[in-house]
Amino acid sequence: MIPNQEPADSGPEMILVRYGELALKGKNRSFFEHALVRNLRSAAAYTSPVRIELSRGRIAVFPERRVMEVARRLQDVFGVKTISPAWGCEPDADPIASLAQRVMTRTLDEWPTSGDISFRVRTKRSDKSFPMTSTELDLYIAEGVLTNTDRLRVQLKGAQLELGIEVREKRAYVFTKRLPGPGGLPGGTAGRMMCLLSGGIDSPVAAWLAMKRGARVFFVTYHSHPYIGDASKKKVIDLVRRLSRFQVRCRLFIVPFTEIQTSIRDLAPEAYRTVLYRRFMQRLASRLAYREKCRALLTGESLGQVASQTIENMTCIEDASDLPVLRPLVCFDKEEAVRLAREIGTYETSIQPEPDCCTVFMPRRPIIFGSLEECRAAEEGLEVEGLMARALEGVERVDIEAEV
Ligand code: ATP
Ligand code: MG
Repeated sequence: MIPNQEPADSGPEMILVRYGELALKGKNRSFFEHALVRNLRSAAAYTSPVRIELSRGRIAVFPERRVMEVARRLQDVFGVKTISPAWGCEPDADPIASLAQRVMTRTLDEWPTSGDISFRVRTKRSDKSFPMTSTELDLYIAEGVLTNTDRLRVQLKGAQLELGIEVREKRAYVFTKRLPGPGGLPGGTAGRMMCLLSGGIDSPVAAWLAMKRGARVFFVTYHSHPYIGDASKKKVIDLVRRLSRFQVRCRLFIVPFTEIQTSIRDLAPEAYRTVLYRRFMQRLASRLAYREKCRALLTGESLGQVASQTIENMTCIEDASDLPVLRPLVCFDKEEAVRLAREIGTYETSIQPEPDCCTVFMPRRPIIFGSLEECRAAEEGLEVEGLMARALEGVERVDIEAEV
């Protein structure tokens, strides 16, 4: 990279990335760090190629271009605690002081309020051979900055504005912003999971929560053509596209569900329809999960939210799955799910009034406290394996990449 002559007059040249919980992971640390580096690189890739340095608990990202756009993308990468776009210079006291002044002028110009601002300098040296200690450099830089303006008041604890200096071996970096990341753990570190994604509010939030804890999430949705139109399919694809902001490559399976539903309608007790639909959904999801090496299913179920979500019915439904069923929202209130859906950007899509296949042949009085024996007995009249095989034959696979 060619060092910029007047760096603070143009945009920042690189991004410092801080990660939190990873540091606690003992022996697994390098596994987590490498996963994070890989995910940072692929999140940035649509905007710019990047070079990434990883050393002593710090990650430095050097985009070839469009640094601030890359920074915005990195803010969505799980495992990232905060990031700081930074300007660079020679790692000597005077160039650092002069760059710090220019960066501060820029920061003060953009500051939202007029009047006094509490301020401090905080230096970190990864190059311990640097001739000044961190505190000496703090003082030297602060002195220079303070002669340039009368808006700043030094305050070591809880300062509104922190001027960060990071001295590395070949270059020093200066920054004033710490932009929040989403926290959590890097995608892929918790294995793969298959999310049953309806067009509703809850299941996209469940997927996001699992991604946040390091799962790599695959998606499956059930579709009842011609009872349900293509717009419902498109809605689910749109939801996956929204989630691809957080996991740059997503795979969705669309499973034809009409034959299973008509068969249940014709051959099983009416009250059990919804629970039996769900049992088939979990059975099919388990098969697809096996193909994709997923180790758990994910749903948006929440205790007591609707009739099918009692513990009795959840027990009946989960019985059909070969894998553990994770329900990240099980103890959420609806408002909590709505708040998260808004934050992650899926809410507006979820509330579009498209029907879900569960509304097809809805029973007049669905069973609320289902019994496993009755579910199994009802399925004896159904050609379970044949229905499954035909549904799996008709699966449509959609691969979705992050929006640019
Ligand atoms: P959501 O908001 O996610 O639709 P919900 O509160 O409406 O959830 P239900 O409609 O009872 O609850 O669905 C419970 C869960 O079953 C969903 O969160 C989802 O994981 C799964 N599910 C329901 N319908 C479908 C579908 N058509 N395709 C895939 N999964 C589904
Ligand atoms: Mg729903």
